[in-house]
Amino acid sequence: MERIAIGGSGVETSRIGLGTWAIGGWMWGGTDEAQSIATIRAAVERGITLIDTAPVYGFGRSERIVGKALAEGGLRDKVQIATKVGLSWRAGEPYRDGRPFRVRQEVEASLRRLGVDVIDLYQVHWPDLQTPIAHTAEALEELRREGKIRAVGLSNHSTAQMNAFRLAARFDAVQPPYNLFEREAEADVLPYAEAGGLTVLCYGALCRGLLAGRITAQTAFTGDDLRRRDPKFRQPRFNQYLAAAQALKTLARERYDKSLPALAVRWILDQGPTIALWGARRPDQLDPVDEVAGWRLDAAGKAEIEAILKRCISDPVSPKFMAPPIRRPSDHGVRHHA
Ligand code: NAP
Repeated sequence: MERIAIGGSGVETSRIGLGTWAIGGWMWGGTDEAQSIATIRAAVERGITLIDTAPVYGFGRSERIVGKALAEGGLRDKVQIATKVGLSWRAGEPYRDGRPFRVRQEVEASLRRLGVDVIDLYQVHWPDLQTPIAHTAEALEELRREGKIRAVGLSNHSTAQMNAFRLAARFDAVQPPYNLFEREAEADVLPYAEAGGLTVLCYGALCRGLLAGRITAQTAFTGDDLRRRDPKFRQPRFNQYLAAAQALKTLARERYDKSLPALAVRWILDQGPTIALWGARRPDQLDPVDEVAGWRLDAAGKAEIEAILKRCISDPVSPKFMAPPIRRPSDHGVRHHA
């Protein structure tokens, strides 16, 4: 397993991180706790030491399951925990909230759910457009000084928002959406990170399963699974992405003798100071992890990938549908979850 430093924080971690959004169940049609714990253990056995979670994933459930897996397996000292701050919720509806008093409440709630005394990487999940970014930044800097967190990251922030944050406090990592099908970060966040010595945690490494190679036009998504409203999974666009995945799968096998998820993750790791966040909720979904290390994509292979994307996807769409709403006036006086 390749490893990487998280900015200048002194935290070092694996270049593949386990994404635990689906483990929380919410927006993924439910979850199974025993399978989830087995998945976390399987990840560590394969050399994955970074676990990315968030309070909002299952409204505390993902963090609690991560905490339980670490406690039961005696794994705390073997892993780096990345969680997030800045999304609150009411009646199952998230909204952005980076107010300093909420940052303080949230860190305590996350530490308790995770059963740890320090968070290795604490990331602002989405920018709160109603709170001055410097106020959130100063609250995080204070937590770092107090030893409650080791490194700071910004997720879903524009470069202007990152600049505003940087005027008030240091940060070490960014977390944009980035995978073969979602490339917007190449225009701004990636070059910004490279220039600033920041580590890039790329989320949705498998584009919500599209790049895992098993989804077909007949695959049914149930319950609150977000893929029921993901514009990439709507026809006629869905067929374009499926055709691209099929062509990439053939390329991966014929040119490199690898699976599609291994190609997709290798591609991310070849782009710069990156970490690929691989979402999984069953141990077998991590089987292809072992195929990622020890090789790189060559120039001709990369060119072939670009040609496939251009040929198959005539109507690309970004993952913007996931953006949570801002705080409403009625959210201000809410008694917050803790
Ligand atoms: P992802 O990694 O793009 O895809 C994960 C899904 O792909 C799995 O749940 C599974 O779907 C399928 N999959 C994975 N491995 C597979 C395999 N070997 N074979 C077949 N299917 C496989 O999705 P993601 O969870 O959205 O993103 C990864 C992580 O990034 C998240 O867990 C989270 O930690 C982070 N993230 C952060 C943000 C943010 O705003 N900061 C947003 C999104 C994600 P099924 O289980 O349904 O089969």
